[in-house]
Amino acid sequence: MVSKCANPACNAKFRYLHEGKLFMIGQLLPRAQMETNGGPNLGNLYWLCEVCARELTVKVGENHSVRLLPRSETHAVEHHSA
Ligand SMILES: [Zn+2]
Repeated sequence: MVSKCANPACNAKFRYLHEGKLFMIGQLLPRAQMETNGGPNLGNLYWLCEVCARELTVKVGENHSVRLLPRSETHAVEHHSA
């Protein structure tokens, strides 16, 4: 279970569900990957505190590595491609 902000540089403690943003990694993965890879990672929860959630988002990479990405960058990419 989550105990602190997913940002390693941030020490905010997880207290309330309505604060910040929760990411369930199992939901971020495609279903096919979930079935073939039904390991203990599936239920992994990551939480970003309210401050970090404004700046960062959680993404799962190709090798299932969890990465923090700046929201501004993802927005810029979306905007650019639209
Ligand atoms: Zn934080």
